[in-house]
Amino acid sequence: MAKRKRVLSLRCPTCKKLVLCSEAEFPFCSERCRLIDLGKWASDGYVVSTPIFDPDELEHRHGEKPEGGADSGKPDHQRS
Ligand SMILES: [Zn+2]
Repeated sequence: MAKRKRVLSLRCPTCKKLVLCSEAEFPFCSERCRLIDLGKWASDGYVVSTPIFDPDELEHRHGEKPEGGADSGKPDHQRS
């Protein structure tokens, strides 16, 4: 009965190329595309962006003012 094996195929989620289920990296066309797709998912929850430095904190680290208390690290013009 099995004259012809039904070939299951999907499109590679990364490059949309048709991939047969016999492929080693199915449903991806290649290991590269698999890794790219994995990376895509991973970066969804882990967004790599430029670190934001708090200017005040930078000043603290740089200055290390000896007479400074908890509050006096800020310049006068920032007080309200
Ligand atoms: Zn691909």
